[in-house]
Amino acid sequence: MRFYNTMTKQKEEFKPIVEGKVSMYACGPTVYDFFHIGNARSFVTFDMMRKYLEYKGYEVTYVQNFTDIDDKMINRANENGITVRELADQYIKEYFEDAESLGIKKATVHPRATDYIEEMIAFIRGLEEKGYTYVIDNDVYYDTEKFAPYGKLSGQNLEDLNVGSRIKADDRKKNPRDFVLWKGKKEGEPYWESPWGDGRPGWHLECSVMSTKLLGNTIDIHAGGIDLIFPHHENEIAQSEALCSCEFANYWLHVNFLNINNEKMSKSLGNFFTVREIREHYTGEEIRFFLLSAHYRNPVNFSDEMMAQAKSALNRLYNSLDNMKHLCDTAEEKPLSTEEEALLKRIEGYQKRFEEVMDDDFNTADAISVLFEIAKEANVNFTETSSKEVIEKTLKTYLLLANTLGFLTQKEEVLDEEIEALLRERAEARKNKNYKRSDEIRDYLKEKGILIEDTKTETRWKRIRT
Ligand code: AMP
Ligand code: ZN
Repeated sequence: MRFYNTMTKQKEEFKPIVEGKVSMYACGPTVYDFFHIGNARSFVTFDMMRKYLEYKGYEVTYVQNFTDIDDKMINRANENGITVRELADQYIKEYFEDAESLGIKKATVHPRATDYIEEMIAFIRGLEEKGYTYVIDNDVYYDTEKFAPYGKLSGQNLEDLNVGSRIKADDRKKNPRDFVLWKGKKEGEPYWESPWGDGRPGWHLECSVMSTKLLGNTIDIHAGGIDLIFPHHENEIAQSEALCSCEFANYWLHVNFLNINNEKMSKSLGNFFTVREIREHYTGEEIRFFLLSAHYRNPVNFSDEMMAQAKSALNRLYNSLDNMKHLCDTAEEKPLSTEEEALLKRIEGYQKRFEEVMDDDFNTADAISVLFEIAKEANVNFTETSSKEVIEKTLKTYLLLANTLGFLTQKEEVLDEEIEALLRERAEARKNKNYKRSDEIRDYLKEKGILIEDTKTETRWKRIRT
C-alpha cells in the first residue's frame, strides 16, 4: 500500500511499526454543535481508511478525539445557559447518531480532552523541564524557537509563518508563532488546578497527549483535514517530538476541503449544512456515497445536483444487489458453464483492480467504478438459468468490496420469507375475491419498499428504494 505523506510530500510505501498492526489517530470534532458535511468528509474518509486497512488484514487501533473544551464550547454553553460538560454530552450523543447513519464505525477509543487534564499537566511539566516553555502571567507558552525543525510539516518558511487562525495575535509572546499550552483562568470559564495556577489546556495539547497516552510515542498514521496542517499538526509535532525525542507519526494523511460554491464550508463562514439537515432529504449512506465519490485529496463541491446523482448511483448498486439475491434464491445448484467460469475469473480480476486502486492512496473514486463493473456483469449475465454458484460467488465479492467502502449495508426490513408468505396470502385473497385484503398487502409491501407486479402466471416482486 502507498499513501501520500504530507510530511515528505510524496506517496510512500506503508510500513507499519509493528507488523500486522496499525495505530491511527484522527482529529475529531469540537462538540459544540451538530457537525457539518465538511467535517463529515473527514470523518467518513478516516473511517474508509480504517475499514480498508482492516480489509487488508491489519489490526487497527483507531483513536478519534472529541474536543470538549475551547472558546467555542464555552461561548455556546453560556449562550444556552448550560455547563460545558452538558453541552459536550449532548453533542457527543448527536455525533454518534449522525456518524452511525453515515456508516462510520465507532473508533477503538473516543477520548475526551477534559478526561486527560492530569496527563496534559504532566506533559507540559516534561516540556518545561526540557526548557521548551515560558510563562507570561498565568499562561504557559511553547517556545518554537527552541524546536529547530518547526515548520517541517507545513513546509513553510519560518519567517513567513503567521499566527494560526484559531489564536489571536498576542503581543506578549516572544514569537508570533509560539502557542499556548496552558491558559490562565478567566472569569466565568471552567478551570482546573495546575502548577501554573488555575486554568485550562490550549487546544493543540490534547491530541499530542491523547495520541501518546493511547497509542504510544510514535504512531503509524495521523490524519485530519488540510486546515489542520498548520498550525495544529505543526504544533502537535513540536510538542510531542520535543518531549519524546522521537518521531510523532510516520504518515501524515490530510483530507481536502469540501467546498460550497468553491469556498471552504465552515461554521465560521456561515455557509454550512449540517449532516442532520441533509439527512432530512438523503440517507446517511447516500451522503457517504457522495463523499467517497471523489479522491480524498481532491476538493469536492457540495450541491444538490451532486447529491441527487449519488442517490441514483447508489440505487443502481442496490438494484443489482436485489436482482442477484432474488436470482440466487431460486437458482439451481449445477456445475458452472464455461461462460460462468470465465465470468468468475473476471470477478476475481475486479477484486484485484479494487485492491490496486485502494492500495494506491485510497482511490475510492476508482474503487466505486469497480463496483459498477461487477453490477453490470451481473445485470447482463445472470438469468433464471444461471447456476447458484456463479451468482453466490459474485454476490459475495460484490458485498465484500461494497461493505469495505461502507456501502450496501442497509438492513432489509422485510425478509424474503415474509414477503413470500404475504404474497401467498394475497394470491389466496384474490382467489376469494377479497380485494380489500389483497390491496392492503400490496400497500404494506409498497411502504416497505417492495414493489409487486402481477403477470399472467405469477406475482413477482422487487425491492425499490426511493
Ligand atoms: P472541527 O470540529 O472544526 O475541529 O473539525 C473537525 C474535523 O473536520 C477536522 O479534522 C477538520 O479538519 C475537518 N474539517 C473541517 N471543515 C472541513 C471541510 N470544509 N472539509 C473537510 N474537512 C473539514
Ligand atoms: Zn488534533
